[in-house]
Amino acid sequence: MANFSRLKLALIGATALAGCSTMATAPAGVSAEAWAIHNRLLTLDTHLDTPAFFDTVRGYDIMERHDVERDGSQVDYPRMVEGGLDGGFWVIYMGQGPLTPEGYRDVRDAALIRAMSIHKMVAANPDKFELALTSSDAARINASGKKIVYISIENSYELGEDLSLLDTFYKLGVRMAGPVHNGTNQLADSTNPGAVGMKWGGLSPMGRDYVKRANELGIVLDGSHSSDAAIEQMIDLSATPIILSHHGADHLNEHPRNAPDALLKKMAAKGGVIHMNALGSFIKTLPQTKERTDAMTALRTKWGNPNQLESTRYELYLDELNAIDRQFPENRATLEDYMQQVLYTIKLVGVDHVGFGADWDGGGGLDGFRDITALPKITDRLLKEGYTEADLAKMWSGNVIRLLKAAEDYKASLK
Ligand SMILES: [Zn+2]
Repeated sequence: MANFSRLKLALIGATALAGCSTMATAPAGVSAEAWAIHNRLLTLDTHLDTPAFFDTVRGYDIMERHDVERDGSQVDYPRMVEGGLDGGFWVIYMGQGPLTPEGYRDVRDAALIRAMSIHKMVAANPDKFELALTSSDAARINASGKKIVYISIENSYELGEDLSLLDTFYKLGVRMAGPVHNGTNQLADSTNPGAVGMKWGGLSPMGRDYVKRANELGIVLDGSHSSDAAIEQMIDLSATPIILSHHGADHLNEHPRNAPDALLKKMAAKGGVIHMNALGSFIKTLPQTKERTDAMTALRTKWGNPNQLESTRYELYLDELNAIDRQFPENRATLEDYMQQVLYTIKLVGVDHVGFGADWDGGGGLDGFRDITALPKITDRLLKEGYTEADLAKMWSGNVIRLLKAAEDYKASLK
C-alpha cells in the first residue's frame, strides 16, 4: 500500500511537472545547465512588436503556437514557454503620417485602440498574462507563473500637439515611450528623417517638454529611432536614465540605427541601458540576389499589405512567400553576428548597461535566431564567455527594472 501510494504520488508529480512551463526541453545547442539557468532568470524583452498583429482583419491568437517558417511571426504564449521568455514591453507602434490635425487625430484613435487590444490580450487570458505597472510587478507576476505585460510606445506622433495625451497613455499602462520612428515628427529628428529631414537638430521644443512630462509621470524614455543628437539631448535633459530599447552599436557595422561608442558611453555614465536589436540589416549589410528582390517586389505589388488580407487570401499569400523563400533564400545575418555586437557592447559599457530587445515581430530575426524559442542561446553563449548568472540577471531584466524604479522614484520625489 505504501509503495502504491508512493508510485501514485510520483505519477501525480510527473503529471504536474509536465504541465509546468519549465519542463519545455532545452533548444538544440543549449546545454542543460544554461537552460536551467535561463529558466531561473527573470527574462524581459524590451521591444515586442507583436501587438501590431492584434488589430488586423485576421487578428492574432496569442495562445496559438505559430510557425515562423510559415508566417514569419515570432512571439506567442506557447513559444514564450519554449524560449523561457517571461514577458516584456508590448509595443503600441504607429507609423508616421502627415503632421496635420487630421493626421494626428486618426493616429491618436488607432493608438488608443492598440492600447486596448493589449489590455484585451491580458483580459482574455487572465491565468497566462498580467499587466505590469510598477518596477516590482515583474517579479511578483513572474512568481505567480504568469507572463509579464509592460506597455510601451514606439513613435509618439499620436500625441499630436497635445502633451496631455501622454498622461492618458500613462493611465492606460504605458511605462516606456520614445518620441519618434521613421520620419522626423513634431517631437524629434529621426535616424531615418524622410521628407521632413533633420528639422530640429535633435529634439523639438515640444520634444523637450515631452522629456520633462515623461519624467514627471514616471515613464522611462526610449531613444531608439531618435537621431543621435536627439538621444544625446534626452540623456542631458532627462531626470532619470534613458533606454535604447532595440538598438545596435556602430563599431561593427555603422548604421543610423546603431549608436557610436561615445554616445553609448555617455548614456551608460548617466545610468542608461542599451537593449540589443537583432534586425539583420542593422547588424550586417548583406546583398540579396536580384531574383529575390524582384520576386519580393512582385509579391508586394500583387498582395499589398499582408496585414489587410483576410484568412483565405493570406494563406495564398503565404504559399507564394514560402515558395520565394525556398527558391531564392534570404541572405541573412546570423546569431553569431548578433553575439559579436552583444559581446562588443558589453565590453564597452559593462553588464549594468546592456540588455536584449531583438525587435521580434518588428523586423528582428537571424539565421539560428528566428523567433523567441532561440533566446536561451544567448544565455548559453554568454555563460560560455564567462559571464555569471548574476551578470545575466542584470541583462535579462535587472537593468531595465532599475530604470523603471528610477523613473518611479523621481515621480515620487516631486510630490
Ligand atoms: Zn523599431
